[in-house]
Amino acid sequence: MTEMITLQSVVCPGCAQVLPIDNQGCPKCGYEDNTAGRILALDEIMKLPADDQAHTLNDVSPAFIVAIVNAARAEKPTTATLVEALEKLVLHYSNPEITHVDYRVHACKSAEQALAAYKSGVQP
Ligand SMILES: [Zn+2]
Repeated sequence: MTEMITLQSVVCPGCAQVLPIDNQGCPKCGYEDNTAGRILALDEIMKLPADDQAHTLNDVSPAFIVAIVNAARAEKPTTATLVEALEKLVLHYSNPEITHVDYRVHACKSAEQALAAYKSGVQP
C-alpha cells in the first residue's frame, strides 16, 4: 500500500481498503457501519467508548490493525528534529557573527542533541 494513511483516514475494518470520509460502506468487501451510517475514520473509531456495543467491529482484519500502526507512525514526526538541526547548520554556516571554531562546536552540539532526541523518540 503506497497511499499515506493518517489517523484522519478511513480504513475499512473488513479489508483495510482506504475509503473516502464520505462513504457508504466498503465497495470492495461490503463492510458497513449501520450505526454511524458510514465507516468512520481511524481517529473517530478511537474516540468511541471502549464499551460501545454497537461498534464492536466484528471480524476485524489484521490488516486493519496494521493500518492503525502505520497511521500512528506517519503521524509521528520522527525526522523533524533531524531536519530542523540540519537546516540550522546550513543557515548558520554563512553567518559572519559566528567564527569557524564556534560553528564547529555548535554544529556538533546541535547534531548530538538532534540525534539524542531522535533516538529517544522525544521531541525537544
Ligand atoms: Zn472492505
